[in-house]
Amino acid sequence: MFNIEKAKRIKDLPPYLFASIDKLKAGQIARGVDIIDLSIGDPDLPTPSNIIAKMKKGVEDKKNHRYPSYEGMIEFRRAVSSWYNKRFNVDLDPGKEVLSLIGSKEGIAHISLAFVDSGDIVLVPDPAYPVYSIGAKFAGGEPYPMPLLKENGFLPDLKKIPEDVAMRAKLLFLNYPNNPTSAIANRGFFMSLVEFAQKHNIIICHDAPYTEMYYDGDKPISFLEVEGAKAVGIEFHSLSKTYNMTGWRVGFAVGNSSVLDGLGQIKTNVDSGLFQAIQEAGIEALEGDQSSVEEMRRIYQERRDALVNGLMEVGLKMERPKAAFYVWVEVPNGHTSATFSAYLLDKTGIVTTPGNGFGDAGDGYIRMALTVPKDRIIEGVERLKKVGF
Ligand SMILES: *Cc1c(COP(=O)(O)O)cnc(C)c1O
Repeated sequence: MFNIEKAKRIKDLPPYLFASIDKLKAGQIARGVDIIDLSIGDPDLPTPSNIIAKMKKGVEDKKNHRYPSYEGMIEFRRAVSSWYNKRFNVDLDPGKEVLSLIGSKEGIAHISLAFVDSGDIVLVPDPAYPVYSIGAKFAGGEPYPMPLLKENGFLPDLKKIPEDVAMRAKLLFLNYPNNPTSAIANRGFFMSLVEFAQKHNIIICHDAPYTEMYYDGDKPISFLEVEGAKAVGIEFHSLSKTYNMTGWRVGFAVGNSSVLDGLGQIKTNVDSGLFQAIQEAGIEALEGDQSSVEEMRRIYQERRDALVNGLMEVGLKMERPKAAFYVWVEVPNGHTSATFSAYLLDKTGIVTTPGNGFGDAGDGYIRMALTVPKDRIIEGVERLKKVGF
């Protein structure tokens, strides 16, 4: 018999932790329950119309029908560089300190291939976006978790990383504003991170797709704003969340030119760059009218307040997010992430993501995303009030 055997690198992947909640959700839908799905990390708002108009023109232009350059059009990289300068006061050479990506996930998944050899350690936050550790494993590396705990403001405690682990670590991933906790990092933390990276010769990969989703006017900073950051690392960024462009696949990495060169070397051998029409639309996103971004922040802030106020009223515990579009809720006594998530779905039809799906340190929490309209959030809160805790 012909035998199709998967490679160890995928056979050894951790089990899909959201499978049981997905099954419960499908069951509720089949029973005709009116589901309120707060498990989706994908904006429900449309891409702004100026960006769509630019894309339509770009598609018609036959110079865009050919292979793009793998590192991105210089015009796109200049637009990224100007945007970083305006937003963060960070100077980037568009020629060698900006690399276009087919969505930031693409770069995050590939970077370990450029720098990690078999047996190298890759420091990853726990809980976290799963791609950091999966990319590390695909490259033969060993992910080493850095717990993000409430008492540390959901920042990793760098002093807790054992010396021998730090010595073997090649890369360190982190992500602020954070998914799933919504925590933000301050300048002092980033300064200590640069020091840690220098001391142990570890490349920092900061994933920052949520810097523009902030509330109460409190703007998150870029890792590259702190002195010495560019010498030790890069930042991943994306148009996905800021401009509701998750389906378009456009992101970029900026910072240390040698690190970007390594990532670019992987990319030249794996993909052939980003459709130029999308890059032209991306330039429009970064340089055109920004009122849609302001409007997006207003909408999410209203949703955040409706949800957080309601959750607090029913006696659940959480911090009010200052950025990103997730609420990281502590599960009540007697529950685990999985049992509480299942309980909510059963009693209220609200779908949430169990925190342990993002790593062991996420147990004891559930994640709720603000990606549904405010009236649905209010409806969800009403249902919660009827159940009580
Ligand atoms: C949404 C998200 C991304 C990525 O997005 P792309 O669409 O691939 O640019 C990266 N990191 C985190 C933490 C995210 O939540």
